[in-house]
Amino acid sequence: MKLVVARSAGFCFGVKRAINKAFEVAETEKNVFTLGPIIHNPQVIDALSKRGIGVADNISDLKKAGAKKVIIRTHGISLEDRNRLEDEGFELMDLTCPYVQKAQRYAKLLKDEGYQVVILGDIEHPEVIGLKSYAGKEAWVVKDSEGLPKEIKNRAGLVVQTTQPVDELKKLVSRMIEQTRELKVYNTICSSTALKLKETEEVAGGVDIMLVAGGRNSANTTQLARLCENLSVPTHHIETADELKEQWFRGAGKVGLTAGASTPDWIIEDIIKVLKGYGRT
Ligand code: SF4
Repeated sequence: MKLVVARSAGFCFGVKRAINKAFEVAETEKNVFTLGPIIHNPQVIDALSKRGIGVADNISDLKKAGAKKVIIRTHGISLEDRNRLEDEGFELMDLTCPYVQKAQRYAKLLKDEGYQVVILGDIEHPEVIGLKSYAGKEAWVVKDSEGLPKEIKNRAGLVVQTTQPVDELKKLVSRMIEQTRELKVYNTICSSTALKLKETEEVAGGVDIMLVAGGRNSANTTQLARLCENLSVPTHHIETADELKEQWFRGAGKVGLTAGASTPDWIIEDIIKVLKGYGRT
């Protein structure tokens, strides 16, 4: 029995940077909170909470909890929330991923240049809520090319939520070309997401069973699990090694393992250790 682990399994660059800095600040400072969970992984949130980093859902809760320093998570926050935090006197530790910051800058640039901004993404995702605040009141958020409104102006600009699939961007661009006279496109898709999907697909294509590790509330991990299921490979989405069941692996020649961008190495290592215990690697 053989275990094949996707090379890109686990933390991406932006998450690794944010989590390392959050653990560092926990060593030296008190009354530090994140506005919303720093990443979508309950085990990491729990580990940070044990070191004194709390989570507040909104600015009122930050005030009630007596927060001094506020960590801005990798997805970023809206301009309104940032201004309010500054006005309220909180010290900000901005851990927005540099790729998300770049998308925010492009959204603002398009708005300032007078383009009608279109954002390809999930309207409820915190990253998109943040992007929209930079793109101005007239900005549209569309989840796919079908959602493009007819009322779009002749001069339009497009930015993309960093985790969107490139195929959806291509479809939207070709539809927007038909509806506009001038179109400016910033491809702000993060290559780490595309690489993870590609590698997961490669691993899943050659194994009998796939394990996808990561938070059930992580969009990225869920996307990986859905991809494997769509390839008709028996797939188990687990958060930790405790959920593994030995009977899943009976008769399996090769087992594949991948993990979302918010899954820490220690969870991946624990899973590998348990699988080794089954004699599957
Ligand atoms: S997936 Fe990409 S954009 Fe998102 S946090 Fe990771 S590196 Fe940054």
